[in-house]
Amino acid sequence: MTKISVPIICLECNPDGSSVGNSALSSVLLDLRPDGEGRYRSECSRGHQQIVALRQQKFEILFELAAYAIRDGHYRQSVSSCTASLEAFHEFFLRAMAYENGIKKERFDAAWKLLGISPQNRQEAYLLNYRNFCARPPVLLSPQQNDWKDSVMQKGKMPSREECVTFGQAVLHVLQTAMRDARDAFPNGVKQAMQEHAAAAEQAASRSEAPWSIRTIVNLAMEGDEHSHATLEAELARMS
Ligand SMILES: [Zn+2]
Repeated sequence: MTKISVPIICLECNPDGSSVGNSALSSVLLDLRPDGEGRYRSECSRGHQQIVALRQQKFEILFELAAYAIRDGHYRQSVSSCTASLEAFHEFFLRAMAYENGIKKERFDAAWKLLGISPQNRQEAYLLNYRNFCARPPVLLSPQQNDWKDSVMQKGKMPSREECVTFGQAVLHVLQTAMRDARDAFPNGVKQAMQEHAAAAEQAASRSEAPWSIRTIVNLAMEGDEHSHATLEAELARMS
């Protein structure tokens, strides 16, 4: 299940907003699997469907999907979502760096394409720039963690829940420290990348509804408060 309950009132059930706060009102589920355009589908308990956009970045949603996959016992899925989250973060990091240096979106998009679809190339560009621009070296997955990931993703190893939580926690730690370092190194670039994403989400949303903002474990907007020290196990307990 990739559907989460969101504290949002269905506009079709309650067009004039008069029932806000009425707990008997239909509940709304949001499906976290995006379509290709970064839009998501929501459905209220009476069946009203809607296409919505989220303020959250792709890497934030992918990590959330990894956590739900662990909760639901889809362990291999959690490893691939964690990996996809890291890869999506690499793009965000390099984009924020480019914007910090006055490079426009179109030019970055073209440069990003040059790296091709190889995650290896993208990661090398990320690591090189991290080392050049951030105050400390990046936190990395250990060689053992990478080997373990490859054996799950490529050799069909069936991971246990415990292994997936350990791996997910390592990925969470990588993301939490890297978000902090990116904010320090590229304060304006990070802001610009977040605003650009929110504006694109606004355009992708159906009708005039503003993009939704949901609480995610990895959360750029909440980075800096106690939330940024969340552990995966504690968040899984909250989700169950
Ligand atoms: Zn409804």
